[in-house]
Amino acid sequence: MSIFNNITRNLEKVSDYLNLTDSEKELLLKHKTIHKARLIVNKKSYDAWRIIHNDSLGPGKGGIRFHPNVSEDEVRSLSFWMSLKNSLAGLPYGGAKGGVKINSKELSEKESEAVARAYIQSFHTDIGENKDIPAPDVYTNPKIMGWMLDEFEKITGRHEPGVITGKPIELGGCVLRGDATSKGGKIILDLFLENINKRAEDTSVIVQGFGNAGMNIAKMLHNGGYTVIGVSDSKGGIFNENGLDINKIIQTKKELSTVTQYADAKQVTNKDLLELKTDVLVLAALENQITKENANEIKAKNILELANGPITSEADDILNEKGIIVIPDILANSGGVIVSYCEWVQNKTGHIFSKDYMENILKEKLLHSFNGTYELYTKEKDFSMRNAAYVIALKRILNAERARDNL
Ligand code: NAD
Repeated sequence: MSIFNNITRNLEKVSDYLNLTDSEKELLLKHKTIHKARLIVNKKSYDAWRIIHNDSLGPGKGGIRFHPNVSEDEVRSLSFWMSLKNSLAGLPYGGAKGGVKINSKELSEKESEAVARAYIQSFHTDIGENKDIPAPDVYTNPKIMGWMLDEFEKITGRHEPGVITGKPIELGGCVLRGDATSKGGKIILDLFLENINKRAEDTSVIVQGFGNAGMNIAKMLHNGGYTVIGVSDSKGGIFNENGLDINKIIQTKKELSTVTQYADAKQVTNKDLLELKTDVLVLAALENQITKENANEIKAKNILELANGPITSEADDILNEKGIIVIPDILANSGGVIVSYCEWVQNKTGHIFSKDYMENILKEKLLHSFNGTYELYTKEKDFSMRNAAYVIALKRILNAERARDNL
């Protein structure tokens, strides 16, 4: 099933509540710009995209992914979620996303740099600090953002650090950006537990995915008193019901490139890891991990979506019926883009904010979007947290479109 079909289906779920007209639905499901290019690097070619879903609230904002499964359908979907995420967080951004269909694990550092520069050579007229602002996503990182910024500035002949976020600190990056998504995810999970009267000390967690988002949240939850009982990466999972020593697993991952080689745990398949009993399952890998095929097997009590779109719309219905509460991606993983916003404001104004100041912005914005979402979720009968978050985010986008006289 196309990923974007999930979005259409999720939009239908809140359509009556929002009294959406056909033209409003059409506007929300249409992308503003879809740019596609074929990057030629060392005589090999790779498909690449930069897509803006909606920019009524401000310039497009969203990461660039390097992955062999990247497709136009995926980038369109990710750009839609960025529109909603930025709207829910109250940021002055629309939604955008980019991607290159490439297996970055097979690239040398020199080849990664050549791909990053080729991407900017193809899309430099489509991005800009007031137009569309990329950032890292799956298998891209600050180093790659640094090469991209450098290529952009070479082509345009001027400095414009605000064109890209998640850069190295020396090029105008932000001290908080590295683990901001995970920090935000933990803040949201702490708030959620507070509302259901549960303590971190009594909460077990399984984390799927051990990259930037998954590894950092596993470490933060472990250090914050939660018991992390399972983790996984693309090679498989490990489990210990008494709790895993996450700091040691990070060492194993660094030395052997996988968590599965960690000795003091039982090895499990990726499929089985998702189906284990736990208080919280954190999904921090890729989209479409819980579908109608495995939703009935899920035994977690609550799910935190740190990845974008890890649960299909049909699976969502099954989980809701089973009473499993899903904290949706557009809320749970918005910490990264909130800190990206701080980086962008610093770059545009020349101000340098203190770490405390930015941490306060992160906390305030997350508290505001969590409270709004949770209040609507508990007030409306048969409403999921996703429905509540979608309603708040879509309303703000539609109001901006009305203010522009587009509706
Ligand atoms: P990453 O490339 O750093 O890590 C991805 C991890 O997922 C890797 O450890 C990989 O081995 C693992 N993985 C892949 N397939 C798997 C599978 N089937 N089972 C278990 N593990 C698997 O990427 P990331 O930046 O951590 O992003 C992860 C997710 O979080 C993506 O959906 C991304 O869009 C989302 N996200 C990331 C950020 C950010 O700031 N990094 C912000 C918002 C959302």
